Amino acid sequence: MAKIIDGKATAASLREELKMQVHRDVSSGMRSPVLAVVLVGNDPASVSYVTGKHKACDEVGIVSRDMHLEASTDEAELLRLVDELNRDAGVDGILVQLPLPPHINEDRVVLSIAPEKDVDGFHPVSLGKLMIGMAGFLPCTPNGIVELMVRNSITLEGKHVCIVGRSNIVGKPLANLLLAKSPRGNATVTVCHSRSGDLSRYTREADILIAAVGKPQVITAEMIKPGAVVIDVGVNRVDDSSKKRGYRLVGDVDFEGACAVASMITPVPGGVGPMTIAMLMHNTVTSWKRCR
Ligand code: NDP
Repeated sequence: MAKIIDGKATAASLREELKMQVHRDVSSGMRSPVLAVVLVGNDPASVSYVTGKHKACDEVGIVSRDMHLEASTDEAELLRLVDELNRDAGVDGILVQLPLPPHINEDRVVLSIAPEKDVDGFHPVSLGKLMIGMAGFLPCTPNGIVELMVRNSITLEGKHVCIVGRSNIVGKPLANLLLAKSPRGNATVTVCHSRSGDLSRYTREADILIAAVGKPQVITAEMIKPGAVVIDVGVNRVDDSSKKRGYRLVGDVDFEGACAVASMITPVPGGVGPMTIAMLMHNTVTSWKRCR
């Protein structure tokens, strides 16, 4: 049976380390770190993600500025707010929760965030730096996946990693991180997507298989090389009348089946998700330390 990689515990120890750093510097007179969290509208999943981020901020000692705007907020108004936050020396990080309502152009909003406050790591400047190996903010989910593996003693160097999914927020940046000439990289990476054809041709070759698709059961036991490490990024709602809320969360991997084949596996929930938020805290604290 595969060993379960406990993302909740790994994220908790990272948050604890950050809390200690913040506490030490604030005790010696530095102002607290500040993260501006901008939410437009009331999409239930976004509200829940934002709530989790505020909670993590509280735990670490980061002041989170809750900027909840009406769903009808227009793009110009949002861009004005981001501009104010960019110029506010008391704000270390700016997070605009995506997706935005359809009448707002997400690209324009992401581009408007000052790269030095881009703690989500979505700005093209941050992604460009990642690609060429320059220091910058790393996107939270891909960096959280790497951190999760490193902290659970999974060696990346020389391994064949297969990522299923090529989005700009997970698959592509993750591939670049794992390719980096660094002890946290040096892997050989295959990236699959919806046009790859027979996925198992690639996935069965992988020492580490990472699923970031957004479809339940897309990875089954026969697609996994015996002894491989499986990281499940997917978060999917499936109907479940036995739950009070009427659904449960599952990943992209057939968890039960994969447990019989893999050596290690992340659960959903409790795997990659908590690491994403912990890396956001890490980026905010990093930005704040620069103002020392
Ligand atoms: P996207 O929808 O942007 O990307 C999905 C990718 O999967 C695309 O590259 C797509 O291919 C590929 N794909 C779709 N169907 C198939 C298939 N049948 N076979 C192979 N590839 C396929 O999703 P995201 O990257 O934003 O997110 C992926 C999942 O991860 C979602 O469930 C999301 O909720 C979750 N997530 C979890 C986070 C966390 O913190 N735990 C954070 C971010 C995301 P193509 O490019 O060809 O369309």
